Amino acid sequence: MARYTGPSCRLCRREGMKLYLKGTRCETAKCAMERQWRNQPPGQHGLSHGKPSEYAVRLREKQKLRRYYGVLERQFRRTFSEAAKETNTGEALLTLMERRLDNVVYRLGFAPSRPAARQMVCHGHFLLNGKRVTISSITVKSGDVIKLRDREATKKLVEANRQLSSGRTPPQWLTLDEATLEATVAALPTREDVSIQIDEQLIVEFCSR
Ligand code: SF4
Repeated sequence: MARYTGPSCRLCRREGMKLYLKGTRCETAKCAMERQWRNQPPGQHGLSHGKPSEYAVRLREKQKLRRYYGVLERQFRRTFSEAAKETNTGEALLTLMERRLDNVVYRLGFAPSRPAARQMVCHGHFLLNGKRVTISSITVKSGDVIKLRDREATKKLVEANRQLSSGRTPPQWLTLDEATLEATVAALPTREDVSIQIDEQLIVEFCSR
């Protein structure tokens, strides 16, 4: 039986964009998307499918977002329903994704990738407002405080990950105390804080059919 090795670069090639699933490898020339000959959908007939339908374009956009944040379809639909209560559904969808606890852990440089951040949250390495959490899909709020659990193993893991992620700085909406590694959600993220290149309106159209 094939061994599961985590999210695959194949997903990036399928979506035609970097999804940053493999940690530091994604920033190097080893990234499959940096190699021109590989920068096409997987399979022998990757580029030979002709013009995609409107449905396919919208579906791809939705899949890109889902895979970028690593959420399952059911979680995605739940987040979309939440976003649909807001005036600007597309923007609300992106910012809700950005506020996921696993994404926050990744943005803070505590993990080399979102999949790794999700695993660290699930293994209980973090405290949210003083309480141990294991649910990576929690949506953080303004004023929330994220801290490392007071364990040697957690500190070592985060220190090693921070060295790997040294080129990444936390976004403006998160503040990080470098001495204590305590982070605060200083403000809620805006559309400008979401770095993925995506047309959220196409996703709203797809999900509102
Ligand atoms: Fe692979 Fe990361 Fe490059 Fe995507 S961005 S192709 S996951 S190395």
